[in-house]
This record gives sequence, C-alpha cells and structure tokens, in this order.
Amino acid sequence: MADMFAEVAIVGAALDKSLHYEVPASIGSVLRPGSMVSVGLGKRTATGVVLSVSEVPPVLPQEVKLRPILEAKPPEQSLPEELVALCRWISRYYFYPLGEVLSFAVPFAKPEKSAPARTGGKMVCPACPMPAAADKVGGRGREILALLDEAGAAVPLEKIRKSVPNSAYWLNKLARQGIIHIEIAEESDELSFCPTGGGGVLELTADQKRALDVMAPLIDAAAFKPLLLYGVTGSGKTEVYMRLIERAAAQGRGALVLVPEIALTTSMEVLFRERFGPLLAVWHSALAPAMRRRRWADMLAGRKTVVLGARSAVLAPVKNIGLIIVDEEHDPSYKQEDRLRYSARDVALMRGKILGVPVVLGSATPSLQTLHRWKSDQYGGVVLASRIFGRPLPEIEIVDMKREGGRGPVFSFRLREALAQVLDAGAQAMLFLNRRGYAKFYICQTCGHVLQCASCSLTLTYHKKENRLRCHYCGWERELPERCPVCGHAALFSHGFGTERVEKELMRLFPQARPVRVDRDTMNGGAKIVEALSAVRSGRCNVLLGTQMIAKGHDFPNITLVGVINADAGLQVCDFRAGENLVQLLFQVAGRAGRGEEPGRVVLQTYNPFHYTIESLLKMDYDGFCDRELQSRKLLQYPPFTRLLKFLVTAVKEDAARAAARELAGLCRQKAALLKDAGVHIAVLGPSPAAYVKLKNRYRWQVFIKSWRSSEMQDFTESVLDAVKCDPAFREAQVTVDRDPSNEF
Ligand code: ADP
Ligand code: ZN
Repeated sequence: MADMFAEVAIVGAALDKSLHYEVPASIGSVLRPGSMVSVGLGKRTATGVVLSVSEVPPVLPQEVKLRPILEAKPPEQSLPEELVALCRWISRYYFYPLGEVLSFAVPFAKPEKSAPARTGGKMVCPACPMPAAADKVGGRGREILALLDEAGAAVPLEKIRKSVPNSAYWLNKLARQGIIHIEIAEESDELSFCPTGGGGVLELTADQKRALDVMAPLIDAAAFKPLLLYGVTGSGKTEVYMRLIERAAAQGRGALVLVPEIALTTSMEVLFRERFGPLLAVWHSALAPAMRRRRWADMLAGRKTVVLGARSAVLAPVKNIGLIIVDEEHDPSYKQEDRLRYSARDVALMRGKILGVPVVLGSATPSLQTLHRWKSDQYGGVVLASRIFGRPLPEIEIVDMKREGGRGPVFSFRLREALAQVLDAGAQAMLFLNRRGYAKFYICQTCGHVLQCASCSLTLTYHKKENRLRCHYCGWERELPERCPVCGHAALFSHGFGTERVEKELMRLFPQARPVRVDRDTMNGGAKIVEALSAVRSGRCNVLLGTQMIAKGHDFPNITLVGVINADAGLQVCDFRAGENLVQLLFQVAGRAGRGEEPGRVVLQTYNPFHYTIESLLKMDYDGFCDRELQSRKLLQYPPFTRLLKFLVTAVKEDAARAAARELAGLCRQKAALLKDAGVHIAVLGPSPAAYVKLKNRYRWQVFIKSWRSSEMQDFTESVLDAVKCDPAFREAQVTVDRDPSNEF
C-alpha cells in the first residue's frame, strides 16, 4: 500500500466525481493541488489535475483497487492553486462537471480552430543594467533611449525607424557600446504595433485621480473588493485601468483584464502593448493552438503577467494576480450560452474573492445587478461624470419611422441628410443595426407561410451575396425557392433587413461612401477585424457599418455621426432584461459619436419613439432609467432582488420534452412545499415552452426557479438534480441547468 494518495480531476471528462490514485514515492514530493499528472482512465491515459494530496487512504468500496499516478508534469506546469479552487467553485455553482470546467483552464486538452499566425520582427531592447556610457549618449541616440525608456521594455525596430531619423546609424552605435541589443522576436501573432503618435504619459483628470486614490490602495492592501468604475463613454476609463495595472506591476504582481469581445482585445492591445510591452499576453478562444500552448506556458512561468482577453480569459493561469478588471461589465456576451453557462463577470468576482484582490467593474451603463449592489454599499466605486476635456455627449435625435411611409425605408430623410453632411465634410459615420444578412425573413403573401429552418423554430435570413437563406442559429441553409413550398404560389416577399442590405442601400445613395461592414458574415477571425478597424482609423473608410460588434468600446475620434437603423430590434426579445440590454446597447452606440474634437450627433430610427427606453436615451438619463427599472424589478421580485435558475428540458420528441418538463416542475413543487415548512422560500414557475421551442432538432421546455438566497438555491437544485438522475421519467430527455440565466432563448 502506498503512503500517499491524490484526488484527481480528469481534464475534459464529463465525470460527476473526481478520482483517487496512489502516489508513487518517486513523485510524492512534487505533487500539490494544481499539479498536472498523467493517469490511467479505463484503457486510456488521461491528463488530470491534482485536487488534493493526503496520507490518509480514501474510503472506497473494498473491490476498488487504486491505480498509481503514471507521471507528474514538471512543477512549472502546475495550475495556480487559486485557479483550481475557482474551477471547483464553478463546477458546483453552475452544476457542470469539474473535468470539463478544467478543460477551459487547460486549453490544449481540446483542439481549437486555428487562426493564421503573424510573424514577429526585430526588437530593440535596452541593456540591463544600463552601462554608464548611456548617460553620455547624444544626438538622435538620446531620442532612441527616450523611446525605450517610455516603453519600459523592448520596442519594435520599425517603431524606432519611423520616429527617429537616421536611426540605423544610431542603433548600430548604441549596440556597439552595449547600451542596447537587437533581438529577433520569435514568431508571434501578437500585433507588433507601431503606435501612431500621442505617446507620453497623460496628465490625469481630477476624476481619474480620484478613481486612483480610491482604488489603488486596495491593490496595495491585497484586499478583495468589487469596485464599480462608472464612467460615461469617453471619460477615460482605459487610462485608469492602465494606471492600476502599473501599480500592481510595480509590486511585482500581475493583472487580468477582460473585455466582452475578441474584437475589443485587438483595439485595447494597441494601448496596452505600448504600456506593458512584453509583459502583455492576449488570450482568447480564437488563438491558434500552438500559440495558445506557448502563451499558456508563458503565463504559468510568470513571463506574461498582464493578460488581456475575452470571456474565457477569466480562467487564464496568470500568476500572482494583484488586480482583476472587467471592462463593459454589463455586456451580455460575458455570459456563455452553451455548455458551461457561466458569467465571466461573476466568475471574475469569485476569482478576486479567492485571491483576495480588488475587482474593478467598468462601464458607462452598469448592469442593474452591479448598480444595485453599489447603491446598497456592497461594492465600492467611483463615478467619472464627464468626458475628457469636457467634450459634450452627442446630441440625440429620434426619428419616428411610422411617418416615413413606404415599405419602411432603410434610411429616413433625416439620416440621409445627416449622412450627406458628414461625408461631404470629410468626417466619418457609424451605422448600427443589430441584424446581419440582407432580408430578415420571407413570407408568402398568399398563404402566410414563413420560411423557417428545418431543425429550429427560427425564420431563415436571406444573404444576397451567396443568394442563400440561412439559419442564424444552426447555420443550416438552402436556396431561395421561387414558389412557396406550402401553397405553391410565386408570392414570396422579403420582410425586414440586415446589415448587408444597409450596405447596398448606402452605396446606392452615397457614391462618396467607402463603407466597411463588420458582422459575423464579413469577419472571421481577429486579423480581419484589425484590418477593418484600422481602415476606419486611417480614414480609408468613412462609414463603419455593423452589428453589436462595433457598438462597444472602440474609440474613433473622427466619427461625428452615429445612425441607429432600427432601435426596436432589441425589444422583441421576451426577457425581463430586454429593456436593460437595449438601453445599454443604445447608450454604448451613442457613445461612439463625438469622441474627438468635433461634437457628435446621433440619429436614431424607431417605430416606438415614446418607449421608455428611447426616452431615457434622449435625456441621456441612464440613472433615471435604472431607478425606474429597479423599482419594477423589486415589485415583480426579479433579479437583482432574487436569484433565478432555469432548468432547460430538451428531447428529440416534442411529447417527451413536454412530459419531462411537467414531471420536473411537479418534482420541484413537491420539494419546494417541503422546504416551506422549514422556512425556505423557493418559487417554481412553469413548465413553459422555450422562446425558441425547437433548436437543432431538439424540442425545448423550461422550468424557472426563483429563490431569495443563493445558498438555498444551491441546495434545492442539487436535490432536484439528484432526483432527476434516478427518475425513469427523464430517460428520453436531457435536463440542463442555467444559473442566473441572462435570456430566455
Ligand atoms: P472610455 O473607455 O471611458 O469610453 P477612453 O478610455 O476610450 O474612454 O478615453 C477616451 C479618450 O480620452 C481616449 O482617446 C483617451 O486617450 C483620452 N484620454 C483618457 N484620459 C485622458 C487624459 N487624462 N488626458 C487626455 N486624454 C485622455
Ligand atoms: Zn437552424
């Protein structure tokens, strides 16, 4: 019998339980929670993460014979212990197998789709320590040293070439004196940016200083505290983030920065690269596998300590984190809507709690959850009330599309006029529409049949370029039939429109328009987005047109007009958060206008000009909207005043889904009734068909649970799932849990 035992979670395995192994004496001394190991699992060898090590043998049935751990990976490949603790919390909180949670933290366990790698270049590095001769350097050499000094790290050769005349001579000279050396960077897909100007460190505004005064001491104290940075669009939140990271870095600690979309990592990377140079790693799910592996190793080894990424980066193995930042914390894309249905914002908060570090939640339009907790003093926070240099917020104009006549034109008269003005003046415009494709759907004018996906209860969107109808959920496509498949009449007409149509119409009306369209049809992968954004930045394109991919975060000083093509597109969602999400989106979109010296203008087209969401935007009164919304949530006992959880019941057969959902609701009600006597209040709602009752050939029903305490929700759900496991009524159905659901998809 061995004298050490380890509890191991198998990476990528959908097991409910962790497994126990014997620890061979040869590796006993290196194992600790977080160690990566190879173990036998059935007939194969699997990668595992050690959860705990003990000298006490596990209590197991007699017949189980423990197998030994086969191999321990080198200690430098261990996950930080805090990350293992976090994964265990996620597994429990979101009711998801630990092994699968871990596969998000150990990226190479599952293959990822690849993105093309870019090649690195020569980098100019300052010598360390600087030889005394550095003080005597004169002429252009000084400028080169100043550049290196400013970057605090290696600088791409190209940058020096561009900003210092006759640089080759001076670089050569400095290199000979041993003051600098030039290195060829390894192949990398990190953008080797040549910053376009500005440079130098900004003088902070009074608001920004106040934010640092409040937040920086918490980094020094290494104390967990959620902090809201509530700053209007263009108030300089990014600068605050960077100063806080510098503060952490000065103490030898790292930082984790989350942004809601991969496209935003690239635009923030420009700024961060300048400031943090080689310490920075960008981390998201679209990285090429080889790159992922290398960056993962770099993070574990402590070579990359400032990590910027989208949702999944919340599980990046950054070492010694001193600070976590969640930018645009309200953004719904922080919630993953399949498989592991987690909220990266909430997981970030938990990681901060486990680590004992502050978590900064930045937004111009905080989620009601965050706002409520801030107002009730559970969170700290600072408000940045005005834009940099007191730039005014844009002027907002509402156009009532009901008065435009016709079959609903793409552009109203006002927007056409405004576009002409902006384009003629040589400025830039942004057009926003939250729907891609050409036509929203096709309907038969004889029998009323709407063309639908064969496997989902979704209408098919027409894409003109490929001349295909496509399901935006499962991707299924077909050609546009000439006749209605039901009644046979040639009476199919299109309704509604998407970005593709807006682009066509724009080109038709404005010969001077040079648009770039950003949506999921035109952008596949980070490089294309970088290209599109730089086309706007350089002025090569004068209209940025797209879906929510362009709505948030980006800072384009030349955009003076924002056109919202159809502000109502977000209102048709049947979700208690629809209003909140729409207002946030509209404030974000509006915030893209007038970020430079010219004031901005927003023209918003809507069929509901008096809707309360539109009215609050018109007054630029986000707070007022939230007060009103919070009141009604309180009245209706919705989050943030209660906790919600959704059981999603799916089955191939419609009857099976419905029957299982009924069974589940009954089971929940029974359990809730028993708890009532114990003073625990759980409400059960449903069953009801999901908003999309069929997706990918599975029928979908749901049951909602409402609770007033997170811990009670936890216990209740665990007991329901236990019962479901042994109940034959669920044999044909699958029950999944969506905790804190963000929509009713
Ligand atoms: P937000 O994220 O709050 O919308 P940004 O961080 O994008 O705003 O800042 C808006 C603009 O103001 C950026 O171009 C940024 O470089 C500039 N800026 C930020 N802080 C300062 C400052 N202290 N002085 C001058 N310009 C600043
Ligand atoms: Zn489909």
